[in-house]
Amino acid sequence: MRKYATLLLAIGIFAGSCNNQQNKKESMNNSNDAAFDSYKERFVEALWQQYPGWASSVGYHKYDSILIVPDAAARNKEIAFCKGQLDSLKQFDDNGLSDNNKIDKAMMRNQLESSIWSVNEEKSYEWNPAQYNVSEGFADILNGTYDSLDNRLRNIGKRLAAVPAFYEAAKQNIKNPTAEHTQLAVEQNMGGASVLEQDLPAALQKSHLPEAEKTAIKEKAAQAATAMKGYADWLKNLKNDQPRSFRLGKDLYAKKFDFDIQSGYTVDEIYKKAQEHKQELHTKMAALANQLWSKYMGNAQKPADSLLLIRQVIDKISLQHTSPDSFQAAIEKQIPVLVDFIKKKDLIYIDPAKPLVVRKEPAYMAGVAGASINAPGPYDKGGNTYYNVGSLSGWDKQKAESYLREYNNYTLQILNIHEAIPGHYTQLVYSNQSPSIIKAILGNGAMVEGWAVYTERMMLEEGYGNNEPEMWLMYYKWNLRSTCNTILDHDVHAGNMTKEQAMHLLMDEAFQQQSEAEGKWRRVNVTQVQLCSYFTGYTEIYELREELKKKMGDKFNLKAFHEKFLSYGSAPVKYIKEMMLKDFK
Ligand code: ZN
Ligand code: ZN
Repeated sequence: MRKYATLLLAIGIFAGSCNNQQNKKESMNNSNDAAFDSYKERFVEALWQQYPGWASSVGYHKYDSILIVPDAAARNKEIAFCKGQLDSLKQFDDNGLSDNNKIDKAMMRNQLESSIWSVNEEKSYEWNPAQYNVSEGFADILNGTYDSLDNRLRNIGKRLAAVPAFYEAAKQNIKNPTAEHTQLAVEQNMGGASVLEQDLPAALQKSHLPEAEKTAIKEKAAQAATAMKGYADWLKNLKNDQPRSFRLGKDLYAKKFDFDIQSGYTVDEIYKKAQEHKQELHTKMAALANQLWSKYMGNAQKPADSLLLIRQVIDKISLQHTSPDSFQAAIEKQIPVLVDFIKKKDLIYIDPAKPLVVRKEPAYMAGVAGASINAPGPYDKGGNTYYNVGSLSGWDKQKAESYLREYNNYTLQILNIHEAIPGHYTQLVYSNQSPSIIKAILGNGAMVEGWAVYTERMMLEEGYGNNEPEMWLMYYKWNLRSTCNTILDHDVHAGNMTKEQAMHLLMDEAFQQQSEAEGKWRRVNVTQVQLCSYFTGYTEIYELREELKKKMGDKFNLKAFHEKFLSYGSAPVKYIKEMMLKDFK
């Protein structure tokens, strides 16, 4: 979301203050909920005027032709928009609002306050040159299926006109950027230019636009590509002897955690939990590795160091894996197995009318290995949900082998639980049934990731994998990844963790392959807080379940818990918890 925080509509009507009078009147005439519902509609429409790029990305295409030039005036307008909407929100008292509206209100306020904080305090528009990149927006419109190619190209043509001014404003904004974000911006803008230089001209060829129009768009595309590559060149030559550190710093980091995760815990509390959890996992893993030692290692001498012991057993088990050619088939075969297990154990209702389509990842997404869920947005609820599986064809042997060991016969099942059933895919089906568009738009990443991580453990606890020690050991390794993501993110951004220390954590303590650990280091160099979402959400969901079990005793039902929990949509766990525990106070 924050990536849109600096975008702004130049000709938009500032919607905040003019709504206040209307809101007051409405709350006198109607019930609070009815008034709030109609305010939400106006809020969303104003939000899309304010952030047209964000609108396009969620499938709202009215403002496709607009690209905001991210200058100081745009930031001032954004602040005014957020303050105006915050004023409007204040007109509504929580008393008299339904549970769902209460949560919506809290999420809207968080979004608005977070945007103001980002402009005034975080100021990533100064130090993160990678936030300026127009290619993704153009690629989305180009690959869209919501409108005819000709209409989409006309919008692209209008949008292209603002690209040179966009990059001029970017250059004005940048002050003392980090070396890491600068390098990322150079790579991504150089690479992204191909959308304008190749994909767009190819689409123009196929279109039925008059020749003159085609030529005009082609010319604007060439100018835009020049501006884009010019920006990358400018960054390459930028004199920056003492670049800002890529570490966010303790204070900004703590604040960003509060805004982005919306946890019931502070970042320090979660960090402490992650440290303790890592120790627990190591203890459990050592016991399993001991138990499995002779089966996998025969009479070999057991190392005295328990981390080395675990590593050796894991390495051996990881040799059981599929081949590059059958990777997709292996995933496809598992989906019905997971569905059957969930039905047999009565864990959650799975709507048969919304099947999951497994497909090879489309060309424009190619290069992203592994698997990901592609779900219909809030404006396309009937659309297919795709499970994109990256192809390993063309990979060199060594790379494919290392990848397949990581996604071996055991972890591949956990991956499918996480991404598909009952993880992300199942959660998204429930989320789309939630009536609130606010929760779909402002969906809480920690809840979404936390749910997927929670289901991994839940499935194994219910007996998926027949309680095989191999399955549990590989699960614990997988769970260590989320846990160590939090430790890494915290220690890098609120502390001074070096690359060497990070490699020790990820490889020696979390048993990752070097390439995976290197990738994680690059990721933590250019992102902040997001890596905490998995462990935080998981911890809060698991704790909520255990608390409800205690309070309900015999009346606790796992299926009912799952369905009730997901019925709130993608809301922060702390609010769902408040609602679910309300009756026990
Ligand atoms: Zn192998
Ligand atoms: Zn996930």
